[in-house]
Amino acid sequence: MPLPPEQPRRVGVFGGTFDPPHVGHLVTAVNVRHELDLDVVIMMVANIPWQKDGTRLISPAGDRLAMVEAAVAEVDGLVAGSHEIAAGGPSYTADTLVALRASDPHVDLFTIVGADAANGFDTWERSDEVAALSTLVVVDRPGSRTDPPQPATGEWIRVEVPHLEVSSTDLRARVVDGRPLDFLVPSAVRQVIVERGLFSEGR
Ligand code: ATP
Ligand code: MG
Repeated sequence: MPLPPEQPRRVGVFGGTFDPPHVGHLVTAVNVRHELDLDVVIMMVANIPWQKDGTRLISPAGDRLAMVEAAVAEVDGLVAGSHEIAAGGPSYTADTLVALRASDPHVDLFTIVGADAANGFDTWERSDEVAALSTLVVVDRPGSRTDPPQPATGEWIRVEVPHLEVSSTDLRARVVDGRPLDFLVPSAVRQVIVERGLFSEGR
């Protein structure tokens, strides 16, 4: 009997600086994976987040990857992506999608962004290529509205996720002030922050 045709792998790409990763990222990733029946969501760690470069100190890519690895270690279907770090230079989602497609020509790609990132989508390097290579997925984020979703062109899937008003910016300030990170980041992420002395000099 012939084998059934293989279904393409459905892969979500959730890019970020993840400095540090937090529950807002994780709740988004697991819920989008569930709603869209994705095989895996890659939390893709930007090597040089070019839109943030020069605006503040950014932790070394290796430290951010270690935090994301700690964050996903016990979560089914989430993985830490080191592709952009391995590629080096400024990180463009278009390049990352091309590389993922090259390694698996049949893959079905989904680019996942929060509302603030979706609103800036037109400023992304080769955003037309990102839209052509993947299905665009937006989630709401407290403080940012995408009504109507931006950009006006292109098709966006909106996925409802719990609205969590958590940001890496606030978490970095918490470390500086000595305020608690508990329940805002997994304890394994907190451990990496403490062990590596991240954020303590202020960002
Ligand atoms: P920073 O404050 O340093 O900008 P951040 O919390 O915004 O950090 P990023 O690494 O910039 O985190 O974001 C990566 C992706 O995660 C973006 O698409 C962003 O919109 C999304 N995101 C971040 N926080 C949340 C949240 N609380 N809810 C939903 N999406 C989020
Ligand atoms: Mg951000």
